[in-house]
Amino acid sequence: KRRIGVMTSGGDAPGMNGAVRAVVRMSIASGCEAYAIYEGYDGLVNGGDMIREMGWEDVRGFLSEGGTLIGTARCMAFMERPGRLKAAKNMIIKGIDALVICGGDGSLTGADKFRAEWPGLLKELVETGELTQEQIQPYQTLNIVGLVGSIDNDLSMTDATIGCYSSLARICEAVDSVDTTASSHQRAFVIEVMGRHCGWLALMAGVSTGADFVFLPESPPSENWEAEMCALVKEHRSKGKRKTIVIVAEGAHDQGLNKITPQHVKNLLSDKAHLDTRITTLGHVQRGGTPVAYDRMLATLQGTEAVKAVLEATPDTPSPVICVIENKIVRRPLLEAVAQTKEVANAIHAKDFARAMSLRDAE
Ligand code: ATP
Repeated sequence: KRRIGVMTSGGDAPGMNGAVRAVVRMSIASGCEAYAIYEGYDGLVNGGDMIREMGWEDVRGFLSEGGTLIGTARCMAFMERPGRLKAAKNMIIKGIDALVICGGDGSLTGADKFRAEWPGLLKELVETGELTQEQIQPYQTLNIVGLVGSIDNDLSMTDATIGCYSSLARICEAVDSVDTTASSHQRAFVIEVMGRHCGWLALMAGVSTGADFVFLPESPPSENWEAEMCALVKEHRSKGKRKTIVIVAEGAHDQGLNKITPQHVKNLLSDKAHLDTRITTLGHVQRGGTPVAYDRMLATLQGTEAVKAVLEATPDTPSPVICVIENKIVRRPLLEAVAQTKEVANAIHAKDFARAMSLRDAE
């Protein structure tokens, strides 16, 4: 029987458990055995009982659980070849030659590197006497399939990453709560949201909460932004609005003007717009809690597709990542998808905003 491994890696995201459940059950339904690799690449490098067979009932209840029940980690050992050599040995010992990884771009890049090195790793394991030729014989190729689990929605080739809509829902609930107190006291709130170099969460949060102003890493404001923001906020107040909400993406300070921190925006609203202003940093609340219905559905559909991709792979097929584009579950070349994400991030770092925006437009 074919053995398929599933792991979650990098930052946790709501919906990852749904993906694990789908991979386990689709594997079993397809006549394969499913193995969970615990604690991300740590589990692969350490082996033993960190790689466990999963039965149908072992993933019961996973769909509605937030975070990741099989754990995740940032594993330094896997970044180096000796760590990947250990990982390869542990996989052969367990008889696993296919891995479905739910994580961010780092996790998926590492997985593809592992696949590219696989024949060399096996050769080395035989040469050093760690394994015999007979042991490695049935496992000549490694299949890798990526699922994008991230609250940031920062992968260019998919409309939504697993977890981003849950995070957006959490942000909306939090801003709604802030709204009631802001309105009561006629206060202004500056709210910092996660997303690293990507402004998707902040932009959608702004749209979904009707914020007065949003700062995004991808969209630098005009040089005159300080006066413009204060004028706009005052105009809204003059029309009877009793509260002010300004959303700042955590990556916003990477923008050209380098000043867009929540503290600076707060000072402006207090000193120039004369508003009683507070800062709320939502922090890890944004990653937590139960996944929303969309993430449960996405994780399930993509997890089942990932198993199909494993079973249909040939040695020449590039590793795929499972995406959703215009409501269809599709496969895209993993390395290309990850490279595009990086280009957007680099472009933002280099303050080459025009390039970043045109890349996003071309998605
Ligand atoms: P997030 O978007 O939440 O940060 P991520 O998957 O990008 O998720 P990383 O910390 O970049 O998170 O990667 C997770 C793990 O994947 C690393 O700790 C490491 O074990 C492995 N990994 C990342 N990049 C590589 C690489 N280039 N080569 C080998 N392994 C890697």
